Amino acid sequence: MDFRMRILCCFFALGLMAGPASAFAATPTDGVAPMKSEWFTASEVAPATWRIVDHGTVNVYLVIGRDRALLIDTGYGQANLRQYVQSLTSLPLTVINTHGHLDHSGADLQFGTVLADPADFAGIERTADSVRRESKPDPKLPAAERFDYGANARPLALKPVKDGEIIDLGGRQLEVITTPGHTPGEIVLLDRAQKLLFAGDHINRLVWLQLRNCLPLEAYLASLEKIAARADEFTTIMPGHNEPFDRGVLAEKITCVKGILAGTIADEAYPHAFASGRVAKFERSSVVFDPQNLQARQ
Ligand SMILES: [Zn+2]
Repeated sequence: MDFRMRILCCFFALGLMAGPASAFAATPTDGVAPMKSEWFTASEVAPATWRIVDHGTVNVYLVIGRDRALLIDTGYGQANLRQYVQSLTSLPLTVINTHGHLDHSGADLQFGTVLADPADFAGIERTADSVRRESKPDPKLPAAERFDYGANARPLALKPVKDGEIIDLGGRQLEVITTPGHTPGEIVLLDRAQKLLFAGDHINRLVWLQLRNCLPLEAYLASLEKIAARADEFTTIMPGHNEPFDRGVLAEKITCVKGILAGTIADEAYPHAFASGRVAKFERSSVVFDPQNLQARQ
């Protein structure tokens, strides 16, 4: 099994761990229907807000404004995301990565210009290199849904975003908030008008903090508390994986992380072929962590 498939499988496993889907109201957009696809599904999870699921494992969000649309993350990049997005909107597109992991930035070369926190530029470039080197498409992917990177990849142009920056789509604005932890350059996006927080991998029900380039757990806690200080500005969290959930998960995550740091919450081994660690759980919220990476090194 190659590296990309291992990642795919691990996130599929995370999906199973997260349990049954929570109820979430959908409001279809008049006259717009996603193209038929064996790779992607799309549902309108809030007005003019599509949740596109890449092969059942990772979420890509398409946020529609009056003048532009914002694509939040690009998934694995195995299938033709660009043509799928074009079936949902004809507006000019701005593309942003919540972070540089390959399941969130895999299709960046289909779009070319991508916004991100500069602290994750190196990760995004590594993903792009691995996509360029990938020669064989997944045999399960129908020919009509393949993207020919050899012929059609665009030059990658990364544009920096910074904390507090506003992305204006015309009649709809999203604020970039930097939340280092899961990666050094992880960001989330706040839509105050619709009370939505697009959280990338900063707030999933199960979050990985055991990876080699994760920041110490106390730095992750600081980023959680930064978002908690603004919790009255959103009600729904749109995570990088699995179904959206209410903001209560954020408080549970903070309790879980504080328990790990204080040694007051039970944990157990989290064996994983890709990256093992320890895992602790509080109500709906789990955190996988590295016991050697709790506090910042002096
Ligand atoms: Zn990630």
